[in-house]
Amino acid sequence: MSIENRINELKKNKKAVILAHNYQILDVQKIADFVGDSLELARKSTGVDAEIIVFAGVYFMAETAKILNPEKKVLIPEIEARCPMADMVTANDIKRLREKYPEAGFVAYVNTNADVKAEVDVICTSANAAKIVNAMPNKEIVFVPDMNLGNWVKKNSDKKVILYNGYCYVHRDFEPEKVRGLKERYPDAVLLVHPEARPEVVDMADAVVSTSGMLRYVKDSDAKRFIVVTEEGLLDRLRMLHPDREIISPGTKGICKDMKKITLQSVLHSLEEERYEIKIPDKTLNRAKASIERMLEIS
Ligand code: SF4
Repeated sequence: MSIENRINELKKNKKAVILAHNYQILDVQKIADFVGDSLELARKSTGVDAEIIVFAGVYFMAETAKILNPEKKVLIPEIEARCPMADMVTANDIKRLREKYPEAGFVAYVNTNADVKAEVDVICTSANAAKIVNAMPNKEIVFVPDMNLGNWVKKNSDKKVILYNGYCYVHRDFEPEKVRGLKERYPDAVLLVHPEARPEVVDMADAVVSTSGMLRYVKDSDAKRFIVVTEEGLLDRLRMLHPDREIISPGTKGICKDMKKITLQSVLHSLEEERYEIKIPDKTLNRAKASIERMLEIS
């Protein structure tokens, strides 16, 4: 029996669903019940009729699914698949910053671990970050952990936004010179940039959009050619969905090594052995849930 058939059989027998992030390898995207960005998957996870959720993404995403579905068993196929940016800020960092900025509101990007989500006021995603910051009652906002996304928010807000020095190495490494060169070479191409990219790249964009925003943009656009500045898994998905469009990588291929740790084999093992189960202490889970629910209310 093929590995795909074995996975499908286990899914049925165990009443499991597979949620996969847009940056997963195509084989994993194809076996998934739902593919999307972190907010879409978080929302999806609350509506699924399943006892087990296998989350093909990085650790904080599986944690977010667990926070929203405490009664379900949430598994991540590879325990070492973590987001380095999420690990750049800790709950103690937030407590320290709260002492330094007692009047500030605290907004955390969804790319944070559960104990950080528990310490801030509200969560945001790349798609709704400016909206969430602008909806806060505080004049001053501490934004963690991504400095580039924070910079983008700053440009789209009247608030005083205090930045933290976290970053996504995948998006930071797209070089402005290479993107500029591609723009000159393909003047008809639409340049789509993820807000985790450097400000010099963001400033060149025709549209600054989240991964799901990129998918929508390409689907709805009449353009034939796109330069897409984000992780390669999303570009693979765009090429699969729109074989008639030319999807150009931004000079260098952006690969998130952690996202690629998950394979069909590890998804199979995850279902067979029901590993690795996400566990979060109740107090942390409830406080983190309140921060996520505040975001869902606003967005
Ligand atoms: S692409 Fe960047 S932000 Fe996303 S999981 Fe990988 S390191 Fe983290």
